[in-house]
Amino acid sequence: MFDYQYPDAAGHFGPYGGSFASETLTFALQELRAAWARYQHDTQFQAEYQRELAHFVGRPSPVYHAQRLSAEIGGAQIFLKREDLNHTGAHKINNVIGQAMLAKRMGKPRIIAETGAGQHGVATATICARYGLECIVYMGAEDVKRQSPNVFRMKLLGATVVPVESGSKTLKDALNEAMRDWVANVDNTFYIIGTVAGPAPYPAMVRDFQRVIGEECLTQMPELLASLNLAAQQPDAVVACVGGGSNAMGIFHPYIPFEATRLIGVEAAGEGLDTDKHAASLQKGSSGVLHGNRTFILQDKDGQITETHSISAGLGYPGVGPEPAWLQALGRAQYVGITDSEALQAFHHLCRTEGIIPALESSHAVAYAMKLAKEMRPEQSILVNLSGRGDKDIGTVADLSGEDFYDRPSMRGLKVKGSDKQHEPHHRNV
Ligand SMILES: *Cc1c(COP(=O)(O)O)cnc(C)c1O
Repeated sequence: MFDYQYPDAAGHFGPYGGSFASETLTFALQELRAAWARYQHDTQFQAEYQRELAHFVGRPSPVYHAQRLSAEIGGAQIFLKREDLNHTGAHKINNVIGQAMLAKRMGKPRIIAETGAGQHGVATATICARYGLECIVYMGAEDVKRQSPNVFRMKLLGATVVPVESGSKTLKDALNEAMRDWVANVDNTFYIIGTVAGPAPYPAMVRDFQRVIGEECLTQMPELLASLNLAAQQPDAVVACVGGGSNAMGIFHPYIPFEATRLIGVEAAGEGLDTDKHAASLQKGSSGVLHGNRTFILQDKDGQITETHSISAGLGYPGVGPEPAWLQALGRAQYVGITDSEALQAFHHLCRTEGIIPALESSHAVAYAMKLAKEMRPEQSILVNLSGRGDKDIGTVADLSGEDFYDRPSMRGLKVKGSDKQHEPHHRNV
């Protein structure tokens, strides 16, 4: 068994993590650590959390054998953990419920959050409506323009969306603004962070709220594998996309002791890992402090955070949580890159072979699983965390694929804007 007991009492995952915060926030963070330490093992809190997951989110989410996809590839069996079926369409709600429940118990009626693509903002606005909490979401002004359906959703749910006009007007600027708000309003405000980043206790706390994904898989997989007459109890590999790392940590963490199961995180390689247009903090970044913790970040030689690029806004975080970074250092997880065009191709492939429209973020994990499956035998298996559904992405996909896209007899053989790679069509329509 792989021995793994992290973080330490101060929130360190080896050299990563910790808590870098102003004096004002130090007190708020201590208060949060105390509350989490108290409720983490509180049976009433845990029972309410489980009820919310069952009745509001719709858990457990199924694991689905992607039979046609696997057969077509002819290698390992691919299984999908269906986080796309959760209420609000992704894994983010698992975490947001837990933090909002803590906010209620701590007597904080005002919730703030940052959002990039708007998915975390929508999940936060949803739970604030459910619990009657005030909700303020900081969002870069550029992202507000690019993600208008999610802005409407947040407003419908009663949230105030604050467009952030500073810097590049994207996620990192929204993060700074949310931090500033928190400093000014710590007394009545709870900051709901959307991934396994931020100062301690956030990375471990968010992971613990997302662990339910992997825990369910631990009981679902043996039954599924047995039904296919496969000898293994657990998958040979678990694959998840990595933005900040919350869906990956959620499915990886319960699998850490299972050393026969490889853990593979997929970062957005954008236009290529050898270009400067990607979001691969773990593969191309370096150690630094962002968002109150030490981790791998994309920075220039002066330590300024650089802009990220990905077809999927949710993978565009310029850093990554400290725990995914530590798993890389320990050699327990590996990280790979999938480009925009590979992700888009996998998106279409899953739509057509399985009747599932995946989020573009999740399509990165699907794309890597498809590559990996080819090198494996049919009696082996890969479990993919399908972190979200793709409804939010259909406009992006149509834009990338050309105006007459939906009218073509075959939508295969797509060319992605900004990429000179032409995909090989599977069936040529002559
Ligand atoms: C936000 C998001 C991600 C990326 O965030 P992680 O913290 O890395 O999980 C991935 N997939 C979907 C569907 C998302 O909404």
